[in-house]
Amino acid sequence: MSASQIPPATAVPADGDPTLLVKIFGKDRPGLTAGLCDTLAAYGVDIVDIEQVVTRGRIVLCVLVTAPKGDGAEGELRATVHSWAESQRMQAEIISGRGDNRPRGTGRSHVTVLGHPLTAEAVAAIAARITGTGGNIDRIFRLAKYPVTAVDFEVSGAETEPLRTALATEAADIGVDVAVVASGLQRRAQRLVVMDVDSTLIQDEVIELFAAHAGCEAEVAEVTARAMRGELDFEQSLHARVALLAGIDESVVEKVRAEVRLTPGARTLIRTLKRLGYQVGVVSGGFTQVTDDLQERLGLDFASANTLEIVDGKLTGRVIGEVVDRAGKARLLRRFAAEAGVPLVQTVAIGDGANDLDMLNAAGLGVAFNAKPVVREAAHTAVNVPFLDTVLYLLGVTREEVEAADAHEED
Ligand SMILES: [Mg+2]
Repeated sequence: MSASQIPPATAVPADGDPTLLVKIFGKDRPGLTAGLCDTLAAYGVDIVDIEQVVTRGRIVLCVLVTAPKGDGAEGELRATVHSWAESQRMQAEIISGRGDNRPRGTGRSHVTVLGHPLTAEAVAAIAARITGTGGNIDRIFRLAKYPVTAVDFEVSGAETEPLRTALATEAADIGVDVAVVASGLQRRAQRLVVMDVDSTLIQDEVIELFAAHAGCEAEVAEVTARAMRGELDFEQSLHARVALLAGIDESVVEKVRAEVRLTPGARTLIRTLKRLGYQVGVVSGGFTQVTDDLQERLGLDFASANTLEIVDGKLTGRVIGEVVDRAGKARLLRRFAAEAGVPLVQTVAIGDGANDLDMLNAAGLGVAFNAKPVVREAAHTAVNVPFLDTVLYLLGVTREEVEAADAHEED
C-alpha cells in the first residue's frame, strides 16, 4: 500500500470530539485488559490511550476511548462496564470528556531521586520544587527498591538547567540525591563511561596502601587530604607522596593489588554497562601498577594512570612519563571518547575528587560520587550513597532489568 492509499486515521479524536475515560481499580490478575477491552469492543469504540500501574498487587488501568455512536450507546456502555467490573470485583469509574491528553510542555527532563530511605517529606519537597520552577510531573515510576529507593519523575514544562539548580539546593537541604538529565535520544545514546579509581571504583586510596607498607601512612595521608581539598597542586603533591615510597621492594605491588577493595556495586555497574554495549574506562592519578590489574580483572576498555618507576626491584620514589592530573583526566576522557568513536556529549564521567572536576564538566553527564563538597557543587549531579551501581538508575536502567540480566546469565 502506498502512502496515498493509507486510510485516514480515525482513532485520534480532534480536540472537540467526545471521549470516555474508563478507569478500573482492584486486585491485579491476568485477563483484566482483555476482559475490559472485550467489553468495550461491543460498542465499536477505538482506543485513544491506555496505561496501567500495578502497586503492591493492585492495578489501576486507564483506557481512553472514543465515545460510542448512537442514541443511548454511552449509557449502555457505562452499565455494561460497571456490571463487568462488579463481576471481577473491581471498581470502575467512567468520565466523559473531549479529546486526548493535553500535549506535554516543552523542556523535558528526567528527575531521579535516590533515598536511603526515601521519606515522604523528601518527595514532598522535591515535588514542590518541580512545581515551583513551572514544571509538571507527567509520569512517576520506581527504578529500584534496593540497595536504595530510586524513583524517576518525568517532568515537562521546565528547562533542565534551572530545574537542576533548584533541585540541587533542595537535595542538599533534605539529604537525598537528585539527578536531573534532559530527556530525549541523547540520554539513551550514552556510550562511554569513564571513572576515577581511588575512592570511586575502589574504596581505597592506592598511595595510602603503598604508604602502609613503607611506614609513612601519616605523612602521605596528610598530603593526599590537602590535595583532595584542592589546597595543593596535584602534580606537586603526587611527586611529594611518591618520593616517600623510595626504596620499598617491588613485591609490595602484588600485595597492594590484593588489598584493593572494589566499591560495592562496581562489578554490577561494569557488567551491566558492558551488556548495554557501553565502553568503560578508568583514569587515575594513582598508578598503572594497580589500574592495569583492574583493567584485566574487570574487562575495562580503557585505563590510564601514572607509572611508579621501579629500578633493580625497588621503587625509586619517582613516576615515569606525563603525569595524569586534573587537566590530564579531562584530556584522557576526550581521547577515550575519540578512540571509542563516541561524541563527548554521549559520555558519562564519575569521580570524587577535585582533580576529577575538569573531566566531570567535560562529559555529557558528570557524576560526583560521594564527593567532597567542592566537587559535589560543581558537578552536574551527585550520588551520596555508597553504591556505585546506583549510577545505572541515572541512565534510566531499573534494578529489575539488572537482576533479570544477571539471572539470565546464570541460567
Ligand atoms: Mg578519587
